[in-house]
Amino acid sequence: MSIFASIAAAFGIFAIYCLIPNYWMRNRSKRVVRCGEANEPWIALTFDDGPNPIYTPKLLDILKEANVKATFFVVGKQVLKHPHILSRIHCEGHSVGCHSFSHRHAWLMSPWHTFKDLELTRRAIESFLGYKPCWYRPPWGMFNLCSAAAARKLGLDIAYWSIEAQDWEAKTTVQHIYDAVISQAQPGSIVVLHDNRGAPGAPAKTLEALPLIIDTLKKKGYTFVTLDQLKGEMT
Ligand SMILES: [Zn+2]
Repeated sequence: MSIFASIAAAFGIFAIYCLIPNYWMRNRSKRVVRCGEANEPWIALTFDDGPNPIYTPKLLDILKEANVKATFFVVGKQVLKHPHILSRIHCEGHSVGCHSFSHRHAWLMSPWHTFKDLELTRRAIESFLGYKPCWYRPPWGMFNLCSAAAARKLGLDIAYWSIEAQDWEAKTTVQHIYDAVISQAQPGSIVVLHDNRGAPGAPAKTLEALPLIIDTLKKKGYTFVTLDQLKGEMT
């Protein structure tokens, strides 16, 4: 096989395993929940990458103070390190979903690893909470050819988002996070924020912006719901 044929074959495999399913799942697949169709002004806050021993308890304090329920997409490795925080998330009425075991990019995982990673995550959550989570959001929001099949095998609905605020970036400001959420909010919106990872100290900005976001959206008449509640409204 010539070098050109080898390159073409490699690109073909890359397109079939990574590019095409990623585009399809992010933009077209009806299996992926990107926003609700709520007739009411409902909005869902979601937090990825935790639990984090510093930021997640503070986040839970903010949500409790505001009487707001949210959805936490947790990482299996973090769950094993901080199960008591996972328990608190659950006990305070928030929903919990899988966000992979080690936050590895889907394009860097084999089919076997894709299934195994998700199964380990679900098992970690189930072992501490006693029930099977029903949501999955892939790390980085990226899919490979097997991501949907792995989620289906474990009975997981796939959640994406309609609003992101780049709150993981070093250059992000509290004002930017606030403006990004408020300017894009509409009934049924799913907002993705982060309580772990990102640039050093990034979740501190998220926590600073959050009370302002909640206050403004409440004044606009929004009700905060979990993805379970949002889906219930949709069906
Ligand atoms: Zn993530």
